[in-house]
This record gives sequence, C-alpha cells and structure tokens, in this order.
Amino acid sequence: MRIMVTGGAGYIGSVVTEELLQRGDAVVVYDNLHKGHRDAVVEGAAFVEGDLLDTALLRDTFSQHGVEAVVHMAADSLVGESVKAPAKYYRNNVIGSLNLLDVMHDLGVRHLVFSSTAAVYGEPERQPIEETAPTQPTNPYGETKLAFERALRWYDAAHGIRFVSLRYFNAAGATERCGERHAPETHLIPLVLQAASGHLPEVLVFGDDYPTPDGTCVRDYIHVVDLAQAHVLALRALVQGHPSAIYNLGCGGKGYSVKQVIDCARRVTGRDIRVRVSERRPGDPAVLIASSARITHELGWRPQHQRLEAILESAWRWMQRPGHGAEAGLGNAPH
Ligand code: UDP
Repeated sequence: MRIMVTGGAGYIGSVVTEELLQRGDAVVVYDNLHKGHRDAVVEGAAFVEGDLLDTALLRDTFSQHGVEAVVHMAADSLVGESVKAPAKYYRNNVIGSLNLLDVMHDLGVRHLVFSSTAAVYGEPERQPIEETAPTQPTNPYGETKLAFERALRWYDAAHGIRFVSLRYFNAAGATERCGERHAPETHLIPLVLQAASGHLPEVLVFGDDYPTPDGTCVRDYIHVVDLAQAHVLALRALVQGHPSAIYNLGCGGKGYSVKQVIDCARRVTGRDIRVRVSERRPGDPAVLIASSARITHELGWRPQHQRLEAILESAWRWMQRPGHGAEAGLGNAPH
C-alpha cells in the first residue's frame, strides 16, 4: 500500500516508517520539521516538508503519491507547553488534523491510524486503565487529542472514514537506526541516559512524595518497536474491514517508578547517575498503567520487548552511536 505518515521525521514516526517499509509498503513522510529531524526520515521513504495547515500542499501530496491510507502522528505533544500555549495545540492538533480528514474525505481515502495518548484519561481512579475509563484530560495536550478522537467517530459515521486510535503510554527504547532525540529533551529515559553518559550533571526527580511504593511516579514504558508494530497491525486490520476502534498501548500491565528506571539505567550502563529530588511537575498523575487487553484480544498484538533492561539497553546503544543523543548537546529542559 501507499501510506502517508504524518510526523514521520519524529521519534515514533521514524520507527513506524521503518516497520512499514520493512513490510513492503511505500511511505511518504509529511512533516513540518518543527520538532522532527530531516535525517530521521528513513531511507526509502519519500519526504515532503509540509504543514497540516497547508491544505493545498497536503492535497497535492496525496495526489502525487497516490496515498491510500494514513498514519497520523504529527502533533505538538508537550504537556507543559500546552498549558502555557493552548491555542497552538488547538490549531495544530485539532484544526490541522481536521484538514487532514477533509482532504482524505475529498479524495476518498478511508483508513487512518491515529496516535493518541494516555493523557486523554487525566488522573484515572483505577489501574490498569481500560479504554472504558472516563476521559477527563487535565491539560490541553490531552484535550486536543481527545477532541480529534471524537471528531473521528463522527467522520466515520458520516463519511465512512474508518480509524484506529492508539492511546500510547510511555514510548521508550530505540532501533538500530531510530531513537529519541528531542530538543529540549523532557522525557525521563533520555535524560537519565544523558546523565549516565556525562552530558548532564544529574537527573531531577520530580517529586518523591507521591502515593506510590517508593514515592516517585509510576509509568508504563513500552518499547517503540512494539508500539510501531501495533500501527502496522491496526492498518492491516482496517484494510481488511475491521471497524473503527480505540486501543490502549502499554507493556503488559506493569509499571516502573522513576527511581526504578534510574536504578535500572545504572545497571544497564554501568555508570553512576547523580540524582536530585525537586518539586513535583504540574499535571503529573502518580500512576499510569495501561490495560492492553483489548488490542491483544481483537488484533492479536503482544509486546515482544517487555523487560525494562532491554528497553534501556536499546536506547543506550542508540545514544552511543555517532551523531545521536550523546553528541546532541541536549540540556535538561525547564518544566
Ligand atoms: N520525570 C522526572 N524527571 C525528569 C523527567 C521526568 O522525574 O527529568 C518523571 C515525570 O515526572 C514522570 C516520569 O518521569 O513521572 C515520566 O515522565 P516523561 O516526561 O518521560 O513522560 P510522561 O509520563 O510525562 O509522558
């Protein structure tokens, strides 16, 4: 198939592109490079530097590349920034995404896999979180992802555009070629590994007084390859007639605390990692663990890389390679 991957110059988008190419699909990456990197676009994929708000370019790209289905991953995705700049999030994540749907509708493209997020749930009372849990986002990032998910239902009902929305928990790890490289970096695992490699003096632990066993937040870390494979499965299922669906993507119902991640990184890297406890980061729920039972049951998806050690090892290996994280000079981000 000929597939458009929006956001394919980003971390998860580049791995999804790799998986699609490996399975013989043709890919055109559509990315405005605001957060993505040109060199992250996988060889073998076509690339168009473009914005979702540029409807004319979007339409041309669909026509020129004969796009038959879309994996939509382009978005702004920083919780803290979204609280400070909601308009940017509504414009890019809602209006931009609606542009994409309208072009799909006009051109008769009917299958879409959407990257959604655990942030749609807010602070759920029960763990692991099932898809039926109430959606009560606590920030504009989660709110805008949910708004588009809701739009998808109505576009399906009115126009027959079928979708799978994948609510990611914490993507982590790397392939040989693709890894996590944000500037500024805000995510725990790359920051911990930068501290291990000496590029950061220490890791800040955002709060150790949460109601969790060691007081630090617990998250569900899923290997980016497992995540990417879920997109491929979802796309295949849609093409074979699967109805629209929403699935959580986590790593088997188990979470790790911030302290556990740091301890594991010390073991994997064999390096010392200095830690300083600082105040809580606003908007961080204490625990987020997915139930992924629904996608396992309906699509047969099963994570293959469940050990945190393996996830960290892959990210560490990737960072050591020339031109990757270790040399990117990334600093600890303000929060
Ligand atoms: N975290 C931390 N120090 C950091 C970055 C993150 O203690 O420098 C914590 C954060 O509070 C959260 C967990 O690590 O509990 C995972 O954060 P991340 O930003 O990686 O992902 P999120 O869960 O926010 O999507």
